[in-house]
Amino acid sequence: MYDGLMLIDTEGRILLCNPAVRRFFGIESDIDGMTLMETLRNAELMDVFSGAVKKRAPVSREIEITYPQKRHLTAAAVPFYYPAERKGISGIVLSFHDVTRLKKLEDVRKDFVANVSHEIKTPITAIKGFAETLMEGAICDKENAGRFLLTIRNHAERLNSLVEDLLTLSRIELGDIKIKKTAVNLNDAVDTVLTTLRDKAGAKGLQLKKDIQTDICEINADKNRLIQILLNIVDNGIKFTEKGEVTITVKSEKIDDESEGIRNFIEISVEDTGIGIPKQHLSRLGERFYRVDRSRSRDLGGTGLGLAIVKHLVKAHGWQLRIESAQGQGTRAKIIIPFVTKI
Ligand code: ADP
Repeated sequence: MYDGLMLIDTEGRILLCNPAVRRFFGIESDIDGMTLMETLRNAELMDVFSGAVKKRAPVSREIEITYPQKRHLTAAAVPFYYPAERKGISGIVLSFHDVTRLKKLEDVRKDFVANVSHEIKTPITAIKGFAETLMEGAICDKENAGRFLLTIRNHAERLNSLVEDLLTLSRIELGDIKIKKTAVNLNDAVDTVLTTLRDKAGAKGLQLKKDIQTDICEINADKNRLIQILLNIVDNGIKFTEKGEVTITVKSEKIDDESEGIRNFIEISVEDTGIGIPKQHLSRLGERFYRVDRSRSRDLGGTGLGLAIVKHLVKAHGWQLRIESAQGQGTRAKIIIPFVTKI
């Protein structure tokens, strides 16, 4: 049985306990004749048990345990009568249903709704505020009116990027975006990305460079999605770099490990000379709305969804994304592409 099941007498002594209970609570020793309190040591669970004994009626509650691993369980205590015609209760059937995954999904959903509302609220408040100021007379003040209108337009653009990124993410998650791999010329794809972003980099005095190993021509990829991945990463490089350059490097790698033998990879890396990312943030990059510096990201027009989209698209290709960085030392995002078809 996947669910945990115990039979307990009215004194709290365990009569029966299935393997799932042992697994949930990490019980390894012999528990014959022991009580519920001695075995599971959980006060909430004791409340559920004694509640059912006292009321002679079912009692259930969600409990959280931390050992041997963090889990959320629905514990239900139901009195039983044996033989059936017996007046007083014979004991309690205690069942445990693991709801950890559901609980996690619920938390993710709550966080997501809170984040989206918060992100949308800021530009809406600004648009509303500036529009009202204009209506109250600022519209006649030519110099300021222009500035206010520009701010309204910028915030509307932010809203637009946010909605576009949210739609892209949701389409990926719903499986609407299918990866159609064809032979893609890497040099062309990189050029498209660099051409698209050259003005943006130039405006900050940054150089965009490429270094492509000459013998690498084509990889198997969805061309538009590959371009989208690189655009997002290079765009970040530009946003978070004040001086220097952003370089796209493509090279082939051979990894020789004992278990899997020699494997070939192509590595596309995007390296910048920017502000870098403190180590403690690296593992959380790619979570929706996770940003090292919220206000800096917003000021730069970021939505906090760029890397989440990259992570999904890289995974959908069957590739790997690695981000290496340290504060003040620039950032290198690597895409590892296994099983090279043509070199
Ligand atoms: P944003 O829209 O804020 O750029 P992303 O999902 O693309 O959202 O990135 C998440 C966060 O990761 C950024 O807000 C920033 O803090 C950090 N980050 C991403 N790329 C870089 C980089 N090249 N240099 C420094 N920080 C970066």
